[in-house]
Amino acid sequence: MKPNPFLQEAGSLLNQMREIRRDLHKHPELGMQEIRTSRIVADYLKNLGLDVRTEVGGYGVLALLSTRTGGNTVALRADMDALPLEEKNKVPYASVKRGVAHCCGHDGHTAILLGAANLLCKFSDKLNGNVKFIFQPSEDKAPGGAIPMIADGALRDPDVDGIFSLHLSPELAEGTAGIKSGFSTISSAEFVLKMIGKGCHVASPHESVDPVIMAGMVITAGQTIVSRRINPLDPTIISFCTVQGGTASNIIPEEVTLTGTIRTLKPEKREELADHLDQVAQGVARSSGGTCHLTLKMEYPSVFNHPELTAEFKDSAAKIVPADSVIEMQSPSMTGEDVAYFHQKVPGVHWLLGSANPAMDFTHPLHSPVFDFNEEIMPLGAAIHACCAVDFLRNRQKRPLSSDFGH
Ligand SMILES: [Zn+2]
Ligand SMILES: [Zn+2]
Repeated sequence: MKPNPFLQEAGSLLNQMREIRRDLHKHPELGMQEIRTSRIVADYLKNLGLDVRTEVGGYGVLALLSTRTGGNTVALRADMDALPLEEKNKVPYASVKRGVAHCCGHDGHTAILLGAANLLCKFSDKLNGNVKFIFQPSEDKAPGGAIPMIADGALRDPDVDGIFSLHLSPELAEGTAGIKSGFSTISSAEFVLKMIGKGCHVASPHESVDPVIMAGMVITAGQTIVSRRINPLDPTIISFCTVQGGTASNIIPEEVTLTGTIRTLKPEKREELADHLDQVAQGVARSSGGTCHLTLKMEYPSVFNHPELTAEFKDSAAKIVPADSVIEMQSPSMTGEDVAYFHQKVPGVHWLLGSANPAMDFTHPLHSPVFDFNEEIMPLGAAIHACCAVDFLRNRQKRPLSSDFGH
């Protein structure tokens, strides 16, 4: 097989990508504090001659590779933030910042996308349209950097027609590309449920409305929501995770607070689940003579990978890695990812670049203090990014995408 020109060229950018990645790794910055990182990103992009916009929705950076051929615009996106974690790797490029580390691989995502930008500048004659590079702050820290970037026009001027992004995955073998069509992550929400009664001396229980008993009934009855109210084919979780109330063993308290998590595949199902929980709590409170109050805090919605674009992604990736290294994932990941907000606006594909290498001990999960990866996979990531952009723009000249956004 003739070596792919993108991959060949990306290989020559490995040292540059490694240098950037190690620099970012050594000097990590938490979400919404990516001052140094965004400056390095912007400087690199300006040196490529791209039209760069900084401080987009915070420390976000946008760069446009405009080919003046008209046509569509495709976006490639990376996240830049690190985690509040003490790194335990003993490597020369280990974090020098106490309690902050790049243990989710976003340093790699950023370096790979800079490599892809360089690559596409070199191959700009192959582009039937524009490429927008989106470097977003704060993926790991809710409410995330995607929403403010979108609000600040990241997907406009020119309007973006499709978006691609990647995440390193130590769950997939090094050098593979994993993809799941449709919903590929879970939507979550936190709830706080207060069961409010009437406190009194434990010697006069008949004078009380006991919130401890109400809480117990809600926890038990709450188990029937998933088992009896939700279609078993809809993956759903309700978990009660904290129970707080009371101050002494001889006082019936005024209230008990339950907190927990709701997880569903379809984002809109979270409200439905919360309504069921509210009904259960209201019923218990009413029959006990008390009251209740439920609040819901939405976290990231599910990432929806556009089915037609997912099929196109598989073809593009198979030009860079062997076809059997493009892995169709069967079930969604339980993690959250705020690229979901971009996918709610434009068709998108979020894929996984496999990074598991047992021989080099790169098998630790994301968010582990010893997560690391073999930098030699960065050219693969950059070449797949570039290939997706070129193919997207070419394919759009042949056929439009359906408006199936999964909601
Ligand atoms: Zn993370
Ligand atoms: Zn991440």
